[in-house]
Amino acid sequence: MENVNGKVVVVTGASSGIGEAIAYRAAEQKADVVLAARRTGRLDKLKARIESETGQRALVVETDVTDRSQVEALVEKTKSEFGKIDVLVNNAGVMLLSFMAKDKVDEWEKMVDVNVKGVLFGVHAALPSMLEQDSGHIINVSSVAGHEVFASSSVYSATKYAVRALSMGLEKELSKTGVRVTNISPGAVESELAEHITDDDILERFKERAGEMKKLQADDIANAVLYAVSQPPAVNVNEVVVRPLQK
Ligand code: NDP
Repeated sequence: MENVNGKVVVVTGASSGIGEAIAYRAAEQKADVVLAARRTGRLDKLKARIESETGQRALVVETDVTDRSQVEALVEKTKSEFGKIDVLVNNAGVMLLSFMAKDKVDEWEKMVDVNVKGVLFGVHAALPSMLEQDSGHIINVSSVAGHEVFASSSVYSATKYAVRALSMGLEKELSKTGVRVTNISPGAVESELAEHITDDDILERFKERAGEMKKLQADDIANAVLYAVSQPPAVNVNEVVVRPLQK
């Protein structure tokens, strides 16, 4: 197995949940990490924890992934601080589940902006450097909702299907370069993701079902990411689906 040691790993949405776990676990395995999100207070705390507990370097870059120039600046700051970018984890995302008849068009737009345009801006900003380096790894966080559609997940699923389509196309396009592409599709993971839902019917269902479903931990997804990153350079892990076992 290739080591993560010495790699520069950029994680969007590193201020909580899965992104935070990926950044921390990458630093534990001796990567230098770049922490991107909007809530810099939380990123600063994670940076302090990473530096004191793992001894690795962590750079905080305030980034709204819906703003193309901010994502470009994220990659530029990474290169000027660490000289390269080895791994980009396009993890930032929002899941504003609702029934389409509720017509929450602002939330549809937000999901498209963060979940799809955010990933595109990440690819746009990082891929030229990776191609120039002849090496790199783009990891896109989709979802099982990018494999199946549920009654309230039409728009969220549409964004996550789009993420998978981008991963699948990129993987083929880049297969003769040194750039690897991994699509990660988590099932339900314990995190803040559902806290932003505003549809009362969906919130009611979530409350009713709370305790019924055993969720994964963010670390379980970080392990899947680290598995893909730590393969030998010629091994391209393209698709990982991780579901909780309902035992
Ligand atoms: P969290 O809500 O805990 O984390 C979401 C992260 O995305 C936060 O760090 C948030 O940071 C960031 N984010 C949101 N909007 C923006 C933005 N405009 N610019 C930059 N960052 C943004 O949820 P999870 O950790 O669970 O979600 C991470 C990813 O995993 C998402 O893509 C989600 O769709 C996916 N996923 C999650 C599952 C789950 O069950 N939890 C299942 C399947 C997939 P900030 O607000 O500070 O900007």
